[in-house]
Amino acid sequence: MALDPQLLEIITCPDRHRAPLVHDPATATLNCPECGRAFRIEDDIPVMLLDEARTAPAGSHHTDQEEDR
Ligand SMILES: [Zn+2]
Repeated sequence: MALDPQLLEIITCPDRHRAPLVHDPATATLNCPECGRAFRIEDDIPVMLLDEARTAPAGSHHTDQEEDR
């Protein structure tokens, strides 16, 4: 399975920050370093829906977010 490199170059997070996504072949996802979302790839087509994206589990990597509890 190979994603189009040209597609990878132009693909950005659908969220407001429009950060370039990073392809992770191990999990077959496109990861957004800005918001931590992971967009899955189905049949070589990235599912670029915010509703379908997974967010990184809390604590999996450090963020600047404060705990509000
Ligand atoms: Zn993002």
